Amino acid sequence: MRIGVIGAGYVGTITGACLADHGHNIICIDIDQQKVDAINKQKSPFYEKGLSVLLKRNEIKATTEYTQAIPNAEIIFICVGTPTKKDNTQDLTHIKNACEQIGKNLQKNQTIVVKSSVVPGTTEDVILPLLEKYSEMREGNDFHIAVNPEFLQEGTAIENFLHPDRIIIGCKNKKSKKTLETLYKDFTCPKLFTSLTAAEMIKYASNAFLSTKISFINEIGNICKKLNIDTYEVAEGMGYDQRIGRAFLNAGIGWGGSCFPKDVKALITKAKELGETPRILESVLQVNQEQPQKPLDLLKKHIDIVKGKEIGILGASFKPETDDIRESRSIPIIKELLKEQVTVKIYDPKAMDNLKKIFPTISYCSPEEVLDSDAVLILTDWEEFEHLNYKDKVVIDGRKIEKARKESKIYEGVCW
Ligand code: NAD
Repeated sequence: MRIGVIGAGYVGTITGACLADHGHNIICIDIDQQKVDAINKQKSPFYEKGLSVLLKRNEIKATTEYTQAIPNAEIIFICVGTPTKKDNTQDLTHIKNACEQIGKNLQKNQTIVVKSSVVPGTTEDVILPLLEKYSEMREGNDFHIAVNPEFLQEGTAIENFLHPDRIIIGCKNKKSKKTLETLYKDFTCPKLFTSLTAAEMIKYASNAFLSTKISFINEIGNICKKLNIDTYEVAEGMGYDQRIGRAFLNAGIGWGGSCFPKDVKALITKAKELGETPRILESVLQVNQEQPQKPLDLLKKHIDIVKGKEIGILGASFKPETDDIRESRSIPIIKELLKEQVTVKIYDPKAMDNLKKIFPTISYCSPEEVLDSDAVLILTDWEEFEHLNYKDKVVIDGRKIEKARKESKIYEGVCW
C-alpha cells in the first residue's frame, strides 16, 4: 500500500521503516529538514537498535512538502508529537497544523490514521472537524478516519512494532476497518476493533497502569529500604502471581521518557475537566516526582558535605538502549547536584549529545573518568555498566547493577 507518515520522530520513523519492511511504499513528512535529510540518506535521525538496518534495506523517502506526499497515499498516519503544556493540558499545535496540511491536500477515499497519543475525544472533536474544514469533504463519504495507538517501547521499538502484543484499531465505519485489516493482515497478534474514543483511552489507560505499577513498587521499595529488604526479591515473589506479573516491578529512581509523564498528566487534566478526582493518578505522579531525591539523600548519608566534591554519574537516558533523555530522572538529579555546587562528571553510551543541550557545562567523560570521583550515582541500567570496575568506589545505585553491588567499597541501592 502507499502510505504517508506525518512526523518522522521515534514513532513515525519506526512505523515507516517497519511497514516498508512489510513491503509497503512509504513517504515520511516532517517539518524538520535534518530528519528529512537523514532519512533520505537512509540514516536514522536518532538512535534505536536495528533502525539503521531497516532504513538501509528499504527505500523510504522523506520530504517537508505535504503536496508531494499526501495526494498519492492510500493511508496517512499522523505521528506528530503531543506534548503537555505548562497547565498540563495536551498541546495539540502539531496535530492541528498537520490536520490543516493534510486537509488541504486530501483526496477522495484516503484513510487518515491517528497514531499520535491523543486524549479521548480528540479525534472526534478536534481532528475530524479540522480535516473536514480544510478538505471541504465529509468523513464517511469522501475520506475515512481511524485511531491506531502505538505501544512500542524505545530501545526495543522495532521488535515491539513488528511483533506487538495487540493491535488496537478505533474506527467509525467498515471502510477504515477494512483498510487497516488489509494493512495489518500479516500481523498475527490479537486485533481489537473499537470506537475511536475507546482506542484513544486504551493507550492512556495502558500508560497510566504501567506508570502506576512502577510508582507502586517504588513506594513498596521505599518501605523495604527502611526495613533492609531487597525489593527485587519482593518483586520476584510477587511476579510469579499471574494476576500480578513480574514486568514493570523494577524499583528505582522512577519513570521518565516522552510518554508516561505527559500522558499521565494529560489524563489527570482530562479527568478533572470531567469533574472527576483522579486520586490514584495524582499519587502515581507525586511518587515519581519525589523518587529522584532518594539517591541524593543516600549520597549525603555517605558524603557529609557534597559542596565542592566530584560526583560521577553513569547514565543519562531515561532507559537503556535509547539516546532519548526526555523527562529522564537524570535531569532533576543533575539539577540538584549543581545547586549543591558539585562538580558533575557524566557518561552515557548514547545520550551525551542530547544531554549537552540541557547541561552544556558539566564534564562529559569516559566511564573510567566517571568512576574516578568521590562518589558515583548509577541512573540508567545500561548493560555495559555491568562490566565496569567498581572496586574501592562509593556507589549509589538507582537501577540495580549487580556488579556494582558486589564490588563497591560502599554501596547503597535506592530500594534495596
Ligand atoms: P517526536 O517528537 O520524536 O516526533 C514528532 C515529529 O513530528 C518530530 O520530528 C517533529 O518535527 C514532527 N512534526 C511536528 N509537527 C509537524 C507537522 N506539522 N508536520 C510534520 N511533522 C511534524 O515524537 P514521538 O516520540 O515520535 O511521539 C509521537 C507521538 O507518538 C506522540 O503522541 C507520542 O505520545 C506517541 N508515542 C510515542 C512513543 C515513544 O516511545 N516515543 C510510543 C508510543 C506513542
